[in-house]
Amino acid sequence: MEFQRLDKGLLPGDTQTALRCYRWFLARPGRYLYLTATVCGCYECALTEDIAIARDLIELVLARLPHRARQELAALVAVLDEELYRRTLPDPLAHRRPWSSGEQWWHHRLYDESHHL
Ligand SMILES: [Zn+2]
Repeated sequence: MEFQRLDKGLLPGDTQTALRCYRWFLARPGRYLYLTATVCGCYECALTEDIAIARDLIELVLARLPHRARQELAALVAVLDEELYRRTLPDPLAHRRPWSSGEQWWHHRLYDESHHL
């Protein structure tokens, strides 16, 4: 089936997928978490494997929601953001990553190096 994607690949259900990915990521054990880049490289895999991509999508959704719905989602995401920020480490070399061009803070956290290849 061919999906007609809106700009930047927004599909119905993507918000839930991104939120599920976010919660799943934060549910991992350990004091610190490392982001993982998708091995495949396609958007569908990135959305479930790379938390920065999932967070990008949530940001895109937030910008489009009507006021009240945006406030509700923003409050929910703020809690997740706080934990993500607390449990990941800054990556001073983030700007060197070829696959990450995002300017948001979640693109500048450390990735698990073993997932690069
Ligand atoms: Zn893929």
